[in-house]
Amino acid sequence: MGTSALPTEFGGCDLWDPQYGGELCTMLRLIGAADLSLARLFEGHVNAISLVCRYGTQQQIADLAHDVADGALSGVWGAEDARGLKLVSVNDGTLTLEGRKILASGAGFVTRPLVTANGPDGQQLCLLRLKPGYDYDISGWQAQGMRATATGTVDFTGTTITANEQVGRPGDYMQQPTFSGGAWRFCAVHLGGIERLVDLFRQHLVASKRGEDPYQLERLAACVAAAKTARFWVEDAARRFGSDSAAAGTVAFTHLTRMAVERSALTVIETVQRGVGLRAFVRPNDIERICRDLSTYLRQPAPDLAMSDAARTFLHASAGVGEF
Ligand SMILES: Cc1cc2nc3c(=O)[nH]c(=O)nc-3n(C[C@H](O)[C@H](O)[C@H](O)COP(=O)(O)OP(=O)(O)OC[C@H]3O[C@@H](n4cnc5c(N)ncnc54)[C@H](O)[C@@H]3O)c2cc1C
Repeated sequence: MGTSALPTEFGGCDLWDPQYGGELCTMLRLIGAADLSLARLFEGHVNAISLVCRYGTQQQIADLAHDVADGALSGVWGAEDARGLKLVSVNDGTLTLEGRKILASGAGFVTRPLVTANGPDGQQLCLLRLKPGYDYDISGWQAQGMRATATGTVDFTGTTITANEQVGRPGDYMQQPTFSGGAWRFCAVHLGGIERLVDLFRQHLVASKRGEDPYQLERLAACVAAAKTARFWVEDAARRFGSDSAAAGTVAFTHLTRMAVERSALTVIETVQRGVGLRAFVRPNDIERICRDLSTYLRQPAPDLAMSDAARTFLHASAGVGEF
């Protein structure tokens, strides 16, 4: 599974390529349904491989493919504290990293992270090779859910950066529609969690013989409709991301997908918890775990900005909403 995102010539199934978004969407949904933390790590791994395939050299792809085939996990570590991660030039002209990454999933066991660093010419992607046993800190990761992602901080101060580690040119990471449009992938993982919750709710209603109650049927209908709504949005977002639609439209559609999936997830979580009652909060019930993980994982960067950017794009578009 770890090699599936690699190009076929490097032993993979080409899932890095947006034209196979439909296949990747299915994988992310199914893994998300099984375990949202595992799916978060897989999504980060696929994202890192995709960025290296898109912006890296053949040699960088080959080196990463070699390590991944050997079992290495990758991930994209972009989040940082106020100090940030900097790419600085020392006396002899060598470039080194100064600072750390925060909210880095897989801290301690990702050995081929793709990190963003602020250099003299802008934000640069650096593909690192960390030695197993490197220093990391996940002691602060006391989140309600997604504990198994081992999300934490890693300090890179003093790491030497040569041309081999630098992927693409400064500014590539934020290129659109790849940067914002790629958010459909975490929506697909959320969708997997949503679908699993609805199936577990049905299981509960059947097992407890409460399914024929009209209020429970109403809840079930609301959950199925919310899950299917999320599914239509995510699959369309994946399809648009893989097409050659205009960047602004693709980004706006993904922003709206985030909004729709978040709403669906919150509806399903609330409805399932009310329909199942106290048992939905008692471990080791899977509903308890999924609600906890999904509520945490739903918190993604700048949702207000995503929503308002999408609305603004539509505001200034000439096409009607049917063609948007
Ligand atoms: C399980 C998990 C794993 C993660 N793994 C990684 C990883 O491997 N790599 C990585 O880089 N990151 C990772 N992250 C971090 C993730 O990418 C986001 O940075 C993080 O989830 C942002 O959440 P937030 O709610 O703090 O966002 P925020 O953007 O701070 O949003 C919080 C609220 O503030 C609002 N808001 C945002 N900006 C402003 C503003 N300027 N003014 C007013 N309001 C504002 C938002 O709309 C929202 O309502 C992970 C997160 C989770 C939950």
